[in-house]
Amino acid sequence: MPKTERSFRATAIVLRHADWGEADRLLTLFTREMGKLRAVAKGARKARSRKAGHLEPFTHVRLQLAKGRDLPIVTQAETVDAYIPIRDNLIKTGYAAYAAELLDRFTYEEETESSIPFRLLAETLGRISQESDAWLAVRYYEMRLLDYLGFRPQLFKCANCEAEIEPVDQYFSPLAGGVICPRCGSGLPGLWSISVDALKYLRHFQRSNYTEASRAHPSAEVRRELETLMQGFFTYLLERELNTPGFMKQIRSEN
Ligand SMILES: [Zn+2]
Repeated sequence: MPKTERSFRATAIVLRHADWGEADRLLTLFTREMGKLRAVAKGARKARSRKAGHLEPFTHVRLQLAKGRDLPIVTQAETVDAYIPIRDNLIKTGYAAYAAELLDRFTYEEETESSIPFRLLAETLGRISQESDAWLAVRYYEMRLLDYLGFRPQLFKCANCEAEIEPVDQYFSPLAGGVICPRCGSGLPGLWSISVDALKYLRHFQRSNYTEASRAHPSAEVRRELETLMQGFFTYLLERELNTPGFMKQIRSEN
């Protein structure tokens, strides 16, 4: 390696990878030290590659990288946690892919210290890996990720009139970013309904640590409702993101 190349270390989770050139892989990493980062793993598609096994999606790795002409190049990789049960179970794989995709879609390559979202993703992958039913780990992740991204939903007061929310069925407004009381709800467009039970669990996830949150046992019906609502909210936010300067910055950095 020429002496002019600078090398650096990173602790990362592999969000995804793609084929690159003849035998290489392009990795999208989420690092603790500098947030999202793309890097190339040379020869990672060759059968005898020693690095390849450490660089599968959803692997927690310690890396040594060298600054290349365009993208950094992985020179050494060591697995911290491969989360083996995620690889052996399709439902867990699906949950892990969803968690990784959310962080990927909401973050940009900015080279800023990112220990909070890094730890959140690593803890969540650990929970998905360990728990027999990882549904709750994923809902908890969504709620903490909204906090981190600055989209913490308003669940205790009406997001329109600020009246205290009563324990009855309500509306949820993705535009207002929270619950809308029945009185305001009749006059506003673009509202989703939310049952009193679903709201109860969302509040519980929002104000609890994981140990407390994981004591919740919502019914199958409420689970479906919560999953649809949260995924709908993220989808709504992503579409809104298209207008932000951050998105334009990403476009420019990639072109
Ligand atoms: Zn209201």
